[in-house]
Amino acid sequence: MATSAEWFTRAKESLAGGVNSPVRCWRGVGGDPLFFFRGEGPYLYSVEGKRYTDYVGSWGPLILGHGHPEVVEAVCRAASDSTSFGACCPAEVELAEEVKGVFPSMELLRFVSSGTEAVMTALRVARGFTGRDLVVKFEGCYHGHSDSMLVNAGSGALTLGNPDSGGVPASVASATVVVPFNDGEKVAEAFRLFSGRIAAVIVEPWAGNMGLVPPCEGFLPFLREITEKHGALLVFDEVITGFRVSEGGAQQRAGIVPDLTCLGKIIGGGLPVGAVGGRREVMEVLAPLGPVYQAGTLSGNPLAMASGLATLGALKREGVYERLEETAVQLADGLKDAASHAGVPLSVSRFGSVLGLFFAPRLPRNLGEVKGTDGAKYPPFFHGMEERGQYFAPSPFEAAFVSLAHGREVVEETLAAAREVFTSL
Ligand SMILES: *Cc1c(COP(=O)(O)O)cnc(C)c1O
Repeated sequence: MATSAEWFTRAKESLAGGVNSPVRCWRGVGGDPLFFFRGEGPYLYSVEGKRYTDYVGSWGPLILGHGHPEVVEAVCRAASDSTSFGACCPAEVELAEEVKGVFPSMELLRFVSSGTEAVMTALRVARGFTGRDLVVKFEGCYHGHSDSMLVNAGSGALTLGNPDSGGVPASVASATVVVPFNDGEKVAEAFRLFSGRIAAVIVEPWAGNMGLVPPCEGFLPFLREITEKHGALLVFDEVITGFRVSEGGAQQRAGIVPDLTCLGKIIGGGLPVGAVGGRREVMEVLAPLGPVYQAGTLSGNPLAMASGLATLGALKREGVYERLEETAVQLADGLKDAASHAGVPLSVSRFGSVLGLFFAPRLPRNLGEVKGTDGAKYPPFFHGMEERGQYFAPSPFEAAFVSLAHGREVVEETLAAAREVFTSL
């Protein structure tokens, strides 16, 4: 088989930048990306035949590890019946029931094919329900690549947002208000400044796309309170945290009931899925019940539903989340010990089985503080680990994920590699 470098050269001839998602080109760490051809349990195999322990897990979905036999069997069985009906099928009802069973806030759901679409739909629903235009989002929270979410804060005082990507119209960006994560005062200011105009506040309850930044004590309850007070909706983007930190996600752990929830990643078990759901009267604005349009050729796709059902089924077994947590604690504590032994300042955040690594003596609370950590240490860490068969995200400030397939010995090998790498930093 050709090498990864050869594949990448070839890829650049036919794929824009050689990739189908920008983070995959390794610009954040330098060097040519690896090409993989197989995954099994906690491992990935590059086209060179080298084995890697995988802490990316396809960016979150693979909580059972690669090629879990129950998922593979369910997908094969579904495929033999049809890859797509474009019509109603039992599996979509069954998956909706499974999700509702553990997310009581999601009284009605709709399946889509990505987290991006789930968020797009949630925001359209929120605007349709409230009759208002503005949405508040937090700096550093990622909600997929729809226009209105690729927005950064205007400079200076609190203003409407600016495009954070080429191709996003300023008029679209200006319907989003961007405030720092964990900054309740700025949220209150936004509600004062744009009184009666805010449809929703959208948040990753634990911000998992700038490393992993925990919410400060009281921040999420404050968001619940202020949105309710002003007749705006609270949207929890649990695309990462849903079924990751407990079956019922961050909302269950925090004891907060959002109006709308976005899911993705794990609920598709590695196939393309997203879901949006929430309070019945809110979701009832969606077509065909109400005036807010949304549709999808492959929504509720039987392969994705089968994969999701098999994954959620495996997660219902006794002790699963405890085991995930144990492995994640072993990794988090081990990395901290290894770094501190080598005199490298490292802080590690952890929520269930997702981790954030920051080269800093203490955890950042928002994007500004994340950028203030020593991100330059990440590329040598990444490459040192990669040389030792350990695959972390090929970009600083991304979360690390462990799966049920990562046993104690697997993590022990990773920690042995980390001890060498931290010493060399
Ligand atoms: C991954 C992610 C999304 C986007 O999901 P896609 O399936 O990549 O479109 C949205 N929100 C959060 C929190 C995510 O982590």
